[in-house]
Amino acid sequence: MYFYDKQTDLKAYLKKILLNNDNVGFVPTMGALHEGHLSLMKESLQNNKITVVSIFVNPTQFNNPEDLKKYPRTLESDLEKIKSLNPEIIVYAPNAEDIYEGNTVSKSFNYDGLEFQMEGKHRPGHFDGVGTIVKKLFEIINPTNAYFGEKDFQQLAIIKKLVKKNKIPVHIIGCQIHRESNGLAMSSRNERLSADERNKAEIIYKTLKTAKKLFSTKTATEVTKWVTETFEKQKIFTLEYFEIADENTLITCKRKSKNKNYRAFIAVFVNNIRLIDNISLK
Ligand code: AMP
Repeated sequence: MYFYDKQTDLKAYLKKILLNNDNVGFVPTMGALHEGHLSLMKESLQNNKITVVSIFVNPTQFNNPEDLKKYPRTLESDLEKIKSLNPEIIVYAPNAEDIYEGNTVSKSFNYDGLEFQMEGKHRPGHFDGVGTIVKKLFEIINPTNAYFGEKDFQQLAIIKKLVKKNKIPVHIIGCQIHRESNGLAMSSRNERLSADERNKAEIIYKTLKTAKKLFSTKTATEVTKWVTETFEKQKIFTLEYFEIADENTLITCKRKSKNKNYRAFIAVFVNNIRLIDNISLK
């Protein structure tokens, strides 16, 4: 494994080893790595000459200071996991100074309205922070292909928009959601759940699967009502939102249309820990 915490050193190394036609795969992460992250790296390893993984808990994308403070940071074990997956992976794990160069603030982005839906409504400024860091990382690494999980489906859509609008020469590749054996979507934030909460959190994906079944015969409003009522009965879970939206525009479905693809999105709090998930309704 090749470790860099300074962008100038990383850039110099990449310049030294890369030939003109070499494909560079890039996997941005915030660390506390799990199988979901590793699946993105595996995909990159299969399709690129080299793979770069970044580990950086980006302060500008956190709207909640408590969430930023408590976000798990496990660099040593992250590096072990990467090394055992493939010792050729190049890791870039900077501090805020190296990447923001004394100006740790977001730029403002226009994502043609994608930023006003769901996560955008509930996490003000989040997608400006995401756009700022991802654009910076793309400029440093210059990847051919970059890998993002469908777990953060809205983020994936927003990155595709960012790349298109700014004409950044990178292919964005969406990767499927990795789940624990009880169906809970893998997430670094799961580390903060107690064993009991982690078991009970299976309700999130179970609800999504039932919502998918219901959506074949019921309207989006009816399904949303059912999900809301299901969570009202739960003691330890608080539903922040459940929405059925058009996969392309992310706008809430009012009336089903045959030629559109829909997806259900959910955000739930368990003891102040925020979990998100989604499912295709196709
Ligand atoms: P994060 O470290 O949470 O910022 O995630 C880094 C990347 O891994 C993002 O593209 C996420 O969408 C992706 N990711 C996180 N969890 C999963 C998962 N359970 N399955 C697949 N990809 C994931």
